[in-house]
Amino acid sequence: MEAWEKSLQNCVTSPEELSGLFRLQGAPLAEVTTRFPMRITPYYLGLIEEPGDPIWRQCVPDRAELDDLSQSPDPLDEERLSPVPGLIHRYPDRVVWIVSTSCAVYCRFCMRKRGVGCSGMEAAPVDEAVAYIASHPQIRDVILSGGDPLLLPDHRLDAILTALRRIPHVEVVRIGTRAPVTLPERVTPELARMLKRHHPLYVNTHFNHPREITPQSAKALALLADAGIPLGNQTVLLKGVNDDPEVMRLLMHRLLLHRVRPYYIHQMDLVQGTAHFRTRLEKGIAVMAALRGHTSGLAVPHYVIDLPGGKGKVDASSGRLHPDGKTFLFTNYLGEEIGYTDPT
Ligand SMILES: *Cc1c(COP(=O)(O)O)cnc(C)c1O
Ligand code: SF4
Repeated sequence: MEAWEKSLQNCVTSPEELSGLFRLQGAPLAEVTTRFPMRITPYYLGLIEEPGDPIWRQCVPDRAELDDLSQSPDPLDEERLSPVPGLIHRYPDRVVWIVSTSCAVYCRFCMRKRGVGCSGMEAAPVDEAVAYIASHPQIRDVILSGGDPLLLPDHRLDAILTALRRIPHVEVVRIGTRAPVTLPERVTPELARMLKRHHPLYVNTHFNHPREITPQSAKALALLADAGIPLGNQTVLLKGVNDDPEVMRLLMHRLLLHRVRPYYIHQMDLVQGTAHFRTRLEKGIAVMAALRGHTSGLAVPHYVIDLPGGKGKVDASSGRLHPDGKTFLFTNYLGEEIGYTDPT
């Protein structure tokens, strides 16, 4: 067994185990984890300095998750937009392929909370996904996602990448992963060597707080960058974690130190069970204003909203306030006008 597989076996997966480590009432949280599973790697647990801190908030279940069941579990309509279960085809030239439904840490704010780590979501069967992509020549960009693609063993990931590389119209493959953040030992020299055989391959990782950048995660990033893989980062704007211009600026600077180019800051999707992380649009706009011009352009990502109903990502600061004073109107890539109502 590899070291990272052993780490996965040693994860904290129940509130009771956590209450042995911190002063915490485990029992009320058990109700949360029957609905939304919990898993924290030993490494990520070690980054917590005190209960309620930005690392804690991202991984420890909160009662508030159960107070937010009126929102949709799938506001982006991913399931409707999946011609093969687990293969989301929303934009003409690119698809998201869910290759794994588990993660090293179950983030409490996850936009696929409806199924990640539960029985409700399935990875797309490899043969069906490959056949669909092969028969749609307009698809030039394939995004492997999940769950976390790096929870697959190297040989399975290699088989997927090999199959994709046999399709002439697939130009670019991207992997979205949080492994460098939550399970850095997953990034081994063998993994980097295997990935290198499938260029042009991009990796987008998901750091949300400067304290997640540690010697261990830096080593994982260096292995990937040294394999010639361009690295990007997608951050989710989260209340009590990074909804602060100073924290965000420090995060962006630290990413650049490790050859990671900030790509997106996401307005958090209006997903069931995540209300305690929501911020208003003006918060993200203020964060962006504190970055643009005040620091290197390289450190300035795009601030985006993924519009409800799978209408696509738009620049989050491009909204026009509707006369009702509550809804923002955005024009998507198809020229459609779509409303988005800020959380209150
Ligand atoms: C975000 C997303 C993409 C990729 O968007 P980019 O802006 O190209 O990074 C593709 N498909 C779906 C369904 C998405 O949610
Ligand atoms: S790593 Fe990504 S997919 Fe997995 S729980 Fe966290 S946000 Fe969701």
